Amino acid sequence: MHSARLFEQARHAIPGGVNSPVRAFNGVGGTPRFIERADGAYLYDVDGKAYVDYIGSWGPMLLGHNHPLIKQAVLEAVERGLSYGAPTAIEVEMAETLQRLMPSMEMSRMVNSGTEATMSAIRLARGYTGRDKFIKFEGCYHGHADALLVKAGSGALTLGQPSSPGVPADFVKHTLTCTFNDLASVEAAFADYPIEIACVIVEPVAGNMNCIPPEPGFLEGLRALCDEYGALLILDEVMTGFRVGLQGAQGHYGIRPDLTTLGKIIGGGMPVGAFGGRREVMEYLAPVGPVYQAGTLSGNPVAMAAGLAMLKAIQQPGLYEALADKTRRIAEGLKQAAERHGIPLAITHVGGMFGFFFSREPSVSRFEQVTACDMSAFRRFYHLMLEQGVYLAPSAYEAGFVSLAHGDAEIEKTLHAADLAFAQLR
Ligand code: PLP
Repeated sequence: MHSARLFEQARHAIPGGVNSPVRAFNGVGGTPRFIERADGAYLYDVDGKAYVDYIGSWGPMLLGHNHPLIKQAVLEAVERGLSYGAPTAIEVEMAETLQRLMPSMEMSRMVNSGTEATMSAIRLARGYTGRDKFIKFEGCYHGHADALLVKAGSGALTLGQPSSPGVPADFVKHTLTCTFNDLASVEAAFADYPIEIACVIVEPVAGNMNCIPPEPGFLEGLRALCDEYGALLILDEVMTGFRVGLQGAQGHYGIRPDLTTLGKIIGGGMPVGAFGGRREVMEYLAPVGPVYQAGTLSGNPVAMAAGLAMLKAIQQPGLYEALADKTRRIAEGLKQAAERHGIPLAITHVGGMFGFFFSREPSVSRFEQVTACDMSAFRRFYHLMLEQGVYLAPSAYEAGFVSLAHGDAEIEKTLHAADLAFAQLR
């Protein structure tokens, strides 16, 4: 098996053999598949096996892999040069497109990753308010900046490390961690620190503890508490932005944040992030204001071309209805297949993201319910699906992503594989 050989080789040269921990299959065991190419809904590994892909490069591949419009835009941009380190028209077009699609982003700035976006947004919120503390939620992940690696979800959680060595305690002493979908925990934090909290940062649909939608009133409650205490609300839409709808989760749930962070889809598969929001807050950034933030490759013309091609393509009427319908069919199909075999399974889905939980609870909406799921059933199910050519996220703490390229054949293949897998789990 070429993947096994490459993994062995990789582990001598790259820590864990991977450039991002969750790819090493720590959460499920076994050999990660080394990928040679991708097209539409499929990944092809170095052993020539095809997989229906529900990771989509961890979110960006909303249109499916290797989409002709994005490929074309990238190739044309490459012809004009790879990077200039000077302003370009395409950056203006990108900022204006974001402004139009997400009206809360009155101004925006491009960066190179979601981590940079959240890190910069928090610095800006702190600088603007003159306050140090901020609130995040257990099970939400906002990238790997020091102050955010506190009871982090996703990769760190899968590795059983709620926070990381190398982050000095002093660097996280202003990070307050509350409970997702529990407004009382946020009220308590504000009551303890009424004039010290600069911002609340939240994934509007938590996608780093599987897929947990906000309960009705939760996001509205955060908005109201931020207003009451003079803190900024940051919606981290790195994952949900343009995945749950054309206006992101903020449009879907009707919440106007002060700042938004984006990544993944806005890069069309290239390394891109962005943060933006209220004009008066954004104008606190250098060179207009005093808060420093910069980037050698920020707004890179090739990345902008890929991202803009994506943002143009997703404005096609009916696209998000079709995506949500595919996602619902997959999530509900998984539940029905589990029921046929007497396996308790809870599901969630919003727009193009879904979750499934080996849980006896009828619905899962809290972090502690996610950690209480049957992880050994998940691991067995994972490998049964992988063997049948269905590539799910190799961790029970990650959301599933559907693309427009997932057609009837792929959905049927997935649900048929799930039926056989659940039968073997009994
Ligand atoms: N915010 C959220 C909600 C994410 O899911 C992620 C990554 O998965 C990040 C931020 C960090 O983004 P990146 O991996 O591009 O640094």
